[in-house]
Amino acid sequence: MSELLDILRKEIRMQGPISLARYMEMCLSHPKHGYYGNRDPLGVDGDFITSPEISQVFGELIGLWAAVVWQQIGEPKKIRLVELGPGRGTLMVDALRAANMLPSFFDSIELHLVESSKTLRKIQNKRLADYFPVWHDDDTTLPDGPMIVIANEFFDALPIRQFERREKGWHEKLVGLQDDGSLAYLLSPLMNVNELIAKSYRNVEPGTIVETCPAAINILSRIAEAIGCYGGGALIIDYGHEGSLVGNTFQAVKGHKYCSPLEWPGDTDLTSHVNFGQLIEAATSLTTNVYGPIKQSVFLQSLGARERAEALKMNANEAEREKIEIAIRRLIDDREMGKMFKALAISRSDMLPPPGFEIE
Ligand code: SAH
Repeated sequence: MSELLDILRKEIRMQGPISLARYMEMCLSHPKHGYYGNRDPLGVDGDFITSPEISQVFGELIGLWAAVVWQQIGEPKKIRLVELGPGRGTLMVDALRAANMLPSFFDSIELHLVESSKTLRKIQNKRLADYFPVWHDDDTTLPDGPMIVIANEFFDALPIRQFERREKGWHEKLVGLQDDGSLAYLLSPLMNVNELIAKSYRNVEPGTIVETCPAAINILSRIAEAIGCYGGGALIIDYGHEGSLVGNTFQAVKGHKYCSPLEWPGDTDLTSHVNFGQLIEAATSLTTNVYGPIKQSVFLQSLGARERAEALKMNANEAEREKIEIAIRRLIDDREMGKMFKALAISRSDMLPPPGFEIE
């Protein structure tokens, strides 16, 4: 039996059933037994693979994206380049290599990494030590000033709450215990959700499930406020939907396969689909413009993903050329990651649209 399961059982016995957000937070971020705390989950041998791990083109294009945003905001002498949830640091390594093509931008960069996992911080340090990164447990300690924020597959890992509409009203989905000590879902007593669910989602049929991600809303509204105040931009890439109601998207992955989120607490990657509608609402203000979401395929191709892949092929042998082609297709083909993954950008309201978002 996992030690985390024991800890969860104790908490539920003492305090009653817990929200999905609390369950996710314990499973993903418990310092000792949490999923991210004690392993490197990424890659072919891990549980899932992400775009920067598939092709160097992904991080390189984002590095160039950041360089253009830096130019758009008037080339400040010092720019905080921030990555939320940098994983193995691969995106940032590729981005900084590309950013070096514009030395004045490269020299202005102060690197900040928001990362809760000690294991992944060590890997990031090995690969990024030359750039003297500053690590943060969360975004609240980021310094004031112009900043460019990058987040790939970060928001899908943040804890969500789920609410279910029944005949008489709303209930929260909770995690409780069965008689045999196993974890099971149950519903809270009737509750008032007016402060918890946006009005546009409240007039729904019984049986409908609505998800909210309070952490995502808090983080993004703070970042948007800083961008509105000091200038800069943010690029958020994740899989998700544009804000329409989609019901239950809470899922667990282990060894590249789906499983039940309540099985193996702390040993599976728990995520939910990002609700871009909620992110847009959180980031929109008088001082910010929000662009997108647009499909990853559209975003990457408008930045020159195809051309970059062709250039890489020129210096490659036959086998490598095929690998480059397979990787780029995985990123930009709509049947693979091109459509499901989407890009959202934030900039200050007096700025031009960031690269890739001009045709909005
Ligand atoms: N961006 C990387 C990794 C994605 S996995 C890539 O594309 O490959 C999610 C990343 O977010 C991991 O680095 C994980 O440790 C980090 N993370 C998850 N929840 C977090 C939280 N609440 N605070 C800070 N980092 C978190």
